Formats: sequence, structure tokens, C-alpha cells
Amino acid sequence: MSEPPSCDICGQPIVKTDDGQVVGHDYGVWLHSLYQEAAEENEIEMKDDAPVDASLVAAIRKGPHGALIDQVTRCYFAQFRAFFEKPVKTLKGGHTLDNNDLLEKMMRRFEPDVRLTEILKGFPEDKNMWMVVHDDCLPDELRETGYQIPLTRIDTAEKAIEWTIQTGEKMQWHGPAWLYVLRHLFGRTGA
Ligand SMILES: [Zn+2]
Repeated sequence: MSEPPSCDICGQPIVKTDDGQVVGHDYGVWLHSLYQEAAEENEIEMKDDAPVDASLVAAIRKGPHGALIDQVTRCYFAQFRAFFEKPVKTLKGGHTLDNNDLLEKMMRRFEPDVRLTEILKGFPEDKNMWMVVHDDCLPDELRETGYQIPLTRIDTAEKAIEWTIQTGEKMQWHGPAWLYVLRHLFGRTGA
């Protein structure tokens, strides 16, 4: 790693590798469980084909995980954009995952409530999102169900290839999500 990667949760650089990790998490499933909890608390009956309830989306964002959700959902959209980008077809044309201008445009289009609603309407199941984070920034909710790799164990391209094979054998894999992390760690160009 030439320069320290930034944390996908707080945005600050991860200066010491032993302070950070790569974490894989089925974030869509977690969001959906929060939605179900909110529905139970508010005694709203959920039918399978019912539209996503806007008041419950707002409740989740106002809840104890609100700040985390607003930040991490950006990351989720960056990795799973193909699932959500139908409304922004005009942005098509050669842009790449780390083209920040286009990603920013997409993010502005998807306001936080809209992003959450889009995910709850239909997210890719059994697919982890991957983040690079400070150990201290990772909340228990994502730690307990996540797949964690200490940064010290994925600090060279060789180790990254081993992890690519190993994680690919162990879990349902979404290529752009893992690529997001590799680029985050090593940049676009190879060593
Ligand atoms: Zn952080």
C-alpha cells in the first residue's frame, strides 16, 4: 500500500495497518432486519408486495444507527450500483467505480431516504459489501455478523490474491464489491 487507505465509515486515513481491517457484511439483510424491527415497534403490518413504508425509512434514519447508515449506504451504492442505477441511465458511458464526480452525481440523485428505500425494495441477497475500516469505527452490529480480515494480513498484492481465492470459495461473491476494496487498498495501477 503506497498511501494509507481511508476508512469507509469515518473517512479518515488508516495510518497504522494494525488499526484497520477489511470487513465483508451482508448489509442489505441487516437493513431489512432494522426495517422489520421498526415495523413491529410501530405495529405496522408488512405485506410482501406492499411498497416500502416511508415513515419506517425515516424512523430507521432517526434511530441509533442513523449516522452509520447514511455513511455506509453510500459505500453500498458504490459497490452495487448496477442494481440501483436504472433511474440514472444518463450517467452511462465508460465511467468507473472510482470516478468520483459521477458517483457524487448519483449520490445527489439518491438522497438518503431514497437510497434506503431503493435497497429495501430489492437488494442482492447473499452478497457481501466490503469496506476498509478502522477497527474502532466498526460498530458491534456489523462486527458480529461480518467477515473480517485484519489489514496486516492483506497488505501486499500477493496476500490480496490469496484472499480473493479464499473469500471466493467461502461465500457468494459480488465482483465489483471486492474490486472496490482492492482498489481502495492498492489503487488502480498494479505494483
Ligand atoms: Zn474510521
